[in-house]
Amino acid sequence: MTDPLQETVAGDAAPRQRYTLTETGFDEVPKKYRRFYRRWEGAGDRLAPNEVLCPVCRVVIRSTRELRTGDRVYCMPCMSRLVVTEGEGGRLEARVAY
Ligand SMILES: [Zn+2]
Repeated sequence: MTDPLQETVAGDAAPRQRYTLTETGFDEVPKKYRRFYRRWEGAGDRLAPNEVLCPVCRVVIRSTRELRTGDRVYCMPCMSRLVVTEGEGGRLEARVAY
């Protein structure tokens, strides 16, 4: 399992859009994992429906599937386990899971 999306929210029946990930040049993880992460470009950056920002290391985590509130994702660069939550304006955010 290489995708950062480790566990989808329970009771999630609706099909999820799939995404093809391409190399991002992110070099802080082994090569086979690179397409799953990218650097956050700052205020002008926009997250796609399959992306969420790690609150710990500020790296963008990318899945091959659309992300939803309640999903559990893993951030390899900082080894954090995160839960996707709904933030301001309905935007997806991640919080550290304990
Ligand atoms: Zn992180």
